[in-house]
Amino acid sequence: MHQDPIFCHLFGIFVPNSKKNILSQASLLQSPIEYLKGVGPLRADMLKKELNLYTFGDLLQHFPHRHIDKSQVTAIASINPQQDFVQVKGVLLGFSIIGEKRSKRLVAQLQDNSGQIELAWFQGINWVLKTLQEGQTYLVYGRVSFFNGRAQMVHPEMEPLAAPTMSQKSVLEPVYPSTEKLKARGLNGRQIAKLTQALFMQISERDLPENLPVSQLNNRLGRWEAYRQIHFPHSQAMYKKALERLVFEELFIAQVRLNLIKIDRHKNSRGHRFEKVGAYFNDFYNQYLPFELTGAQKRVIKEIRQDTARGFQMNRLLQGDVGSGKTMIALLAMLIAADNGYQSCMMAPTEILAQQHYAGLTALLKEMPLEVALLTGSTKTAERRRILQGLLDDTIHFVVGTHAIIEDIVQFKNLGLAVIDEQHRFGVAQRAQLWKKSAVPPHVLVMTATPIPRTLAMTAFGDLDYSVMDELPPGRQPIKTVHRYETSRASVMDFVKTEIQKGRQAYFVYPLIEESEKLSFEDLMQGYEQVKSFFPEPSYKISMVHGKQKNIEKETNMQRFVSGDTQILVGTTVIEVGVNVPNASVMVIESAEKFGLSQLHQLRGRVGRGSEQSYCILLSSVKASKEARERLKIMCDSNDGFVIAEKDLEIRGPGDIDGTRQSGALNFKLANIINDRTTLIEAKDQAAKLCEQDPNLSSPENAVLKAYLMAQKTKIGWGKIA
Ligand code: ADP
Ligand code: MG
Repeated sequence: MHQDPIFCHLFGIFVPNSKKNILSQASLLQSPIEYLKGVGPLRADMLKKELNLYTFGDLLQHFPHRHIDKSQVTAIASINPQQDFVQVKGVLLGFSIIGEKRSKRLVAQLQDNSGQIELAWFQGINWVLKTLQEGQTYLVYGRVSFFNGRAQMVHPEMEPLAAPTMSQKSVLEPVYPSTEKLKARGLNGRQIAKLTQALFMQISERDLPENLPVSQLNNRLGRWEAYRQIHFPHSQAMYKKALERLVFEELFIAQVRLNLIKIDRHKNSRGHRFEKVGAYFNDFYNQYLPFELTGAQKRVIKEIRQDTARGFQMNRLLQGDVGSGKTMIALLAMLIAADNGYQSCMMAPTEILAQQHYAGLTALLKEMPLEVALLTGSTKTAERRRILQGLLDDTIHFVVGTHAIIEDIVQFKNLGLAVIDEQHRFGVAQRAQLWKKSAVPPHVLVMTATPIPRTLAMTAFGDLDYSVMDELPPGRQPIKTVHRYETSRASVMDFVKTEIQKGRQAYFVYPLIEESEKLSFEDLMQGYEQVKSFFPEPSYKISMVHGKQKNIEKETNMQRFVSGDTQILVGTTVIEVGVNVPNASVMVIESAEKFGLSQLHQLRGRVGRGSEQSYCILLSSVKASKEARERLKIMCDSNDGFVIAEKDLEIRGPGDIDGTRQSGALNFKLANIINDRTTLIEAKDQAAKLCEQDPNLSSPENAVLKAYLMAQKTKIGWGKIA
């Protein structure tokens, strides 16, 4: 299937277990770590177990986390609570073990000309004891803490100053990540430097050939120089340059790889060719489109148009904040499909949402000669039979529904496009079922409002076709969001009352308490009673939805709110996805401190969908943690899902963001997609340009890059696979 060897190799790298490796093939670097001077079998075992270092190359990529500059010493007396890590130099006066059992610790006093500081160890005491010598001068590095107003360093790094320096040339000595077990075997952060030093005695520039094409080098350090300087920098400035170069390399190579995979998918996948834009699209666009498209909508529809015209299968993820108008994109794409003689389906995660989409589409297409059907679990038998037949003989053009659409019994004459709304509720397996519905797989458009930060999307979804709608239709009033403590509930209720008296509707949302469904339920019931006492029947009508209800009951209650029969909807997060009730203008989120940022944002997106000013009130306990209050403040400050997602990423780190795939693309050794985002964007742009111009990497300039990528596969050390 894949003719070009480079692609075979590229796919080879993605086998599970393969460890990301930014080194090129060079046999010396594949030498087992035990062959390195100073290692031997015992230490080799430890290095493998503790740090996953199997080869010379692995060690080369075990980067120092800091460097010691012996000239930078703080006077002990000047240490203050504002400082974090400090380096001091002094004489060890004495040490002793105090306390019993669990509180047992080793304490020592260090003195310089200005004063004294206490050093303390709670673990590995016996081992530390052996290394301490009274009267000896030490260079000591660690985090300072203050205890009863006195400075203390816990588990500091100690280096006796009389010891011969490890590298005569280097002013800055590297300190490497190590573990307690390794330290106990004489391989602490500094001792590992002896190994890297031995390594650099053995390898040469030949082992680390340049892998960036000249066009990417600019004034970046060469590869060999960068590796030397990141371990043994001549100065802080050189260290910075080395780091910059290697971070760029790492991100650039990853982006090149993602681009090549995407190009290969485009080249080798067969798809329906939507050649033209015809009467369906044009008539609708010119006569029935109820509003001007936003710039973002225009851009995205153009991207879809281009994608579907090429003859390869589109696999596009469309990210757009709540209310950005994704449904219209879906409809326009479906019209293009119809223009080319193809049917389309649109799947929603819930029955309510499917009904809403159906109602919306039929209204918009009222005057168009297009047949739209709704197929869900509750579609009656006769109607179902009619729809199945209509899909088979192509008298139905669009079908909207729930997962009922993907059941095997549903067959199409000519399915050309599948739209999947709110992606994360549809599994991969379900999507695969779509493939079986026609000989050539339909184009797929997945739409999601779960905001994923751009930087993350670039790395996690870099091989997909990906569109963002980062613009809301004009005239939307931003939702006013406030944070209130539960103590002011009464005034919050009064406010909700005035809104309802104006004819609007309100949501009250309660959190799902993860540890206990029972607790959640009790919470919700209590909340329901409370809301009822403020809004007594018969003047007010309340519906309630929660996870314990049967689907039909849930749908009915929901529907009563959607139709305006009830003014208040009390529920758990089941109301999170997609519903559109433009008349609802207030969202009260109870125990808001228990929600994550992206969930709060999703919930808030249920209001602000009409022309009225909408409000979101975040109620929290006065005891909410500082971090939770920070989250609530971000919500009050911003309405932009992407800004919020970025903050969420900063707070929680990339591993936890909803909607991201478990992707090797996120495991970088040096790069950090948050801090290095500027470099990431540059690497992405450069990689895309390069791959577009030279998709086979056959130009002489790109030979180094190609050679490097080809060599990757053989870099998987067999020891790691066992
Ligand atoms: P979402 O992206 O959250 O699925 P919808 O597609 O439900 O958003 O759109 C939200 C609302 O905005 C709908 O009422 C829709 O008709 C309206 N809308 C969509 N695009 C535009 C536009 N370009 N101008 C004005 N209103 C629009
Ligand atoms: Mg939607």
